[in-house]
Amino acid sequence: MGLAPDELELFLRGLGEPRYRARQVMAWLHRGAALADMSDLPLPLRQHLAQQARAGSLQLEVEARARDGASKLALRTADGHLVESVVIPHPRRTTVCVSSQIGCAYRCRFCATGQQGLTRDLSAGEIVEQVVRAQQGVHPARVSNVVFMGMGEPLANYYAVVRAVRLLNHPWGLHIGARHIAISTCGLPDQIRRLAGEGLQLALAVSLHAATDEVRSQLVPVNRSHPIAQVMSAARDYGDRTGRKVAFQYVVVPGLNDTPGQGRRLAELLKGLPAMVNLIPQNPINGFGRPDARAASNFARLLRERGVEVAIRKSRGAEVLGACGQLRGRAGRQNDVGRDTARPTQGSC
Ligand code: SAH
Repeated sequence: MGLAPDELELFLRGLGEPRYRARQVMAWLHRGAALADMSDLPLPLRQHLAQQARAGSLQLEVEARARDGASKLALRTADGHLVESVVIPHPRRTTVCVSSQIGCAYRCRFCATGQQGLTRDLSAGEIVEQVVRAQQGVHPARVSNVVFMGMGEPLANYYAVVRAVRLLNHPWGLHIGARHIAISTCGLPDQIRRLAGEGLQLALAVSLHAATDEVRSQLVPVNRSHPIAQVMSAARDYGDRTGRKVAFQYVVVPGLNDTPGQGRRLAELLKGLPAMVNLIPQNPINGFGRPDARAASNFARLLRERGVEVAIRKSRGAEVLGACGQLRGRAGRQNDVGRDTARPTQGSC
C-alpha cells in the first residue's frame, strides 16, 4: 500500500511482469482488494503475489458510528497498536480524518492523544490504508477530502506523510486532489517551509490556539521552542509560495484564550495574511473540559468585528470519542458511547 508507482513497477518487473501491471495492481490495492481477488491479473501472478507480498497491514477492530453519521474506525497494526480514523460524511463531500502517528510527542494540554506520548510513526502505507478502509466503508460515495487531524503530528513524520499524500493524489490510486488534503500542525516552522517547497497544493492548518506566547505556551508546549513569531512567519511563507489561504485552528478554552485582548492580538497577527480562523469548541477528554458554543460564538463575533474570517468547527463523532482531540488509540468501550456529546454549531473539517 505504501509503494510508489515506480517502486511497484520495479517489484513487478522482478517477478517478470510487464510495466503496465503496476497500474492494475495499484488500482486494486487502493480499492482495498485482496491480492487473490485482483481478477484481471493472470492466476499465476496472483498466486505469486500472495506468496511474495501483502496488501496492506491493518485489521479493522471496531467501527463505531455516532448518531450524527460520523464513524470512528479503530484499526490494528501488524505490531498490535491501534490507529484511529474518523469518517465524516456531508451531503456534498466525505472527509476522512487520518492519524499520522501512534500517540504524539507534543502534549498539547487539551488533547487526549498528547497525554500518552509518542509510540511510533505510521508508515505511508498505514496512512494510505486508513483512507482505503474508509473508502470501502462509504462506497458508492467517494472520499473527497482527507485531513491529517487525527492522532499525531504530521510534520514530525514528514517523509511518510508527504509520500502518503502523493499516493492518495495519484491517478492510479484514489486520485484525491491535493487541494482537498489538509495538513494540520502544532507549528513546526522548518517543516512548514519545507512543505511549501513540495510543489503540492496542500491546505495548511496551523494549530495556533492563542495569540500571545504566554498563553500559547500553556496550551501548546512546543511554543517554548517555536514561539508564535516563528510560526506566523513560516505560515506567511507557506501562503506566499503556494498561493493558498492558511487556516488557523483555535480551540476555545473559555476565560483563557477567548479574552478581548487575545482577540485583538489575533487580528493583528493575521493582518494582511490570506487566512481564516477555525474556532473549535473544546471537546472533553478524560471527562474534563466541555464544548462551550456560546464562548465560541462570542469570540467569533469579536474576531469578525476586527475583519477576521472565522468559522466555528462542527466537531462530529463526539459520542464515539471521535471528535477533535479525543483519539487515543484505544478500542471504543461500550460505556464511552453516549457520553460527552458535543453541541455543534457551524463550519466543518
Ligand atoms: N498535531 C496536529 C494534528 C492533530 S489534532 C495539530 O496539532 O494540528 C487536530 C486538531 O484538533 C488540532 O487543531 C488540535 O489542537 C485539535 N484538538 C486537540 N484536542 C482538542 C479538543 N479536546 N477539543 C477540540 N479540538 C482539539
